[in-house]
Parts: sequence; C-alpha cells; structure tokens
Amino acid sequence: MQYPEPIAKLIESYMKLPGIGMKSATRMAFYTIDMDESDVTSFAKSLISAKRDLHYCSICGNITESDPCIICADKTRDRSKLIVVEQPRDVMSLEKMREYQGLYHVLHGVLSPIEGKGPDDLNITSLVKRLQNDEGIKEIILATNATPEGEATAMYISRLLKPAGIKTTRLAHGLSVGSDIEYADEMTLFKALEGRTEI
Ligand SMILES: [Zn+2]
Repeated sequence: MQYPEPIAKLIESYMKLPGIGMKSATRMAFYTIDMDESDVTSFAKSLISAKRDLHYCSICGNITESDPCIICADKTRDRSKLIVVEQPRDVMSLEKMREYQGLYHVLHGVLSPIEGKGPDDLNITSLVKRLQNDEGIKEIILATNATPEGEATAMYISRLLKPAGIKTTRLAHGLSVGSDIEYADEMTLFKALEGRTEI
C-alpha cells in the first residue's frame, strides 16, 4: 500500500536528516500528523528561520544572525589568539568551556581526498587574509578533530602559515584519537587547550 502523497513527502524529507532511515522517518512523519497544528506550524517556522536568518560571518565563517558575528565584534576578546575549527558546532563546544577568550576561524570541513575536498573547498583563503590584514594575531591554535583528515588539515595549515612567522599550536591529545571536538566534555577540552604544543 502506498502512503498518501503528503505523508510520503514528509517521510522523504525526514530521510534527508543524518542517521534517519525509512523506519524512523515513517515513525516521525506519523508522529507529526498527530501533533497539535500550532506545534507543527512553529516547527515549520523554526526550520525556515534557521535557514533564512542565519548566515556565515564574513570574517570567521561561524554561523550568525548578524555580520560580523558577536565573537568577531566583541572588542573585549583576546585578539592575539585564534582557534581554527572544522565546524560551527565546534565553536559552540569550545565556548561552553568558558575558558577561552580569543577568536575563531571555521573551515567548514577538512581536507579529504576521498571526498574530493581540497584546500579551495575550505574556508582557508579568508584565514590567510585575516593574517595578512594583521588583526594582531600572535598564535593560531589548530583544533581540527583527531582524525586522519583533521590531522592532515592541521599539518597543511601549519605549513601554509609557517612563512608568516606566526606561532602555530595543536590541541593536546587528551582528546583521544578519532574523537570529535563537538562531543568532548568541557574538562577534556580545557586540558587539550592547556596542553597544546607548537607544531
Ligand atoms: Zn565571526
């Protein structure tokens, strides 16, 4: 038996989310139908607003409603340090730690030959530009994940920045190999930041 088109379409939409297969998508679709209309409306509005009202910061690449983002615009932050991360979610995780007061730069991915992702597919040009514009940055902390791609990306950036003579450090591996910044607890992140080493 085929589902009526509206529900088939809803199932199809849920299946676009990561880790959601046919079974879960079907369950979620039927659950949605049973929800109050006002809740469904607010859910749909949140989806649209998250997509329409959020942009990438023109300086650091983080997601933001305003441009520049609140971190880049905050004059009280330590402008001598800059943490390079893979995703906006990593900024959120590091901010939760409340220990770091410096700036960020979001790459939006890692180098991955398998997925055909090269330096031009990452937000690297704007990082180099920031250093050329001399925002007073003295240290770049490479906080890509401890995966082979994350390591390769950190190495690539450190080599790229070497001629500029800026100190480049890497988070210590209190973070276990293969682990993601996003899922690390605050204490682990704090230790990894404290124990960072020059590369
Ligand atoms: Zn920013």
